[in-house]
Amino acid sequence: MFPLFEEYNWFHRIGVGYPQIWYIILFWVFAFGSCLGSFLNVCIWRIPRGESLSKASSHCGSCNTPIKWYDNIPLVSYLVLGGKCRACKQHYSMRYFIVELICGTLFTLAVLSAGLQKQPMAISAFNCIAIFYAVGIAWIDAEYRIIPDKLSYPVILAGLILSCCFPEVWGNAETTWLTALGFSAASGAFPALFLALFAIAGKLIAKKEVIGWGDVKYILAAGVLTGLPGAIFSLFFASFSGTVYGVVCGLISKRPLKRTSIPLGPFLAAGTLIWIFAGNFIWKLFWFLKLN
Ligand SMILES: [Zn+2]
Repeated sequence: MFPLFEEYNWFHRIGVGYPQIWYIILFWVFAFGSCLGSFLNVCIWRIPRGESLSKASSHCGSCNTPIKWYDNIPLVSYLVLGGKCRACKQHYSMRYFIVELICGTLFTLAVLSAGLQKQPMAISAFNCIAIFYAVGIAWIDAEYRIIPDKLSYPVILAGLILSCCFPEVWGNAETTWLTALGFSAASGAFPALFLALFAIAGKLIAKKEVIGWGDVKYILAAGVLTGLPGAIFSLFFASFSGTVYGVVCGLISKRPLKRTSIPLGPFLAAGTLIWIFAGNFIWKLFWFLKLN
């Protein structure tokens, strides 16, 4: 299994003697991802409504019956109950299933891709948080037009703490935790500051909100977790694809779409996800094109 890993790295090392162990590890990564997806569903529902996340266990949104633990197993319960409440048979949104499936799948792919690209193992932890955040923001911003601080701040804090714990991600084995913390903070602060100036200039000159503060915090979080190139890529990708989307929508509906009526969150999130899985490739392509 995994004959691709000729070179000696952690991904290969863990499988030595018993490569099948990776089936078990990846299964648990998937299970863990879908559990976090389940928690993300709670965030997507409660944060825009101003409800507390620490509040008592989940209950049916229709009949208010508390949901038993065995009806709350990610993916499995949705399939067993056919997406309906056990008590009142009310249909639940497909979102619950989709978000759990996306998180489980992308977490698994994040670990696999870190191994394939011979990156430090801890990079998967950064990427999993970034995936969790990006999926949540894409959904909340598309539905409610907000990028909530309640999701952004804990994610930024988690990224900074992770950087202190795994400094090798920001350099090499000799990188100290303080250097890593500096790199991580600067990678977020630099593009966020740039975007903030843009937002202020828009307010002063154009007298309208060209960039939301939520977008600024998103870029801060993206930089802290995926580095400066990752944050810049997300920003460029979002500006480009958001504009294309706006133009296409304008052509279809035959009336000009207001710039502010397009939520940037889903496009920023798509940029982050592309960077996580194809960043190394994009980075090499960038330098290749620059040098030739
Ligand atoms: Zn119910």
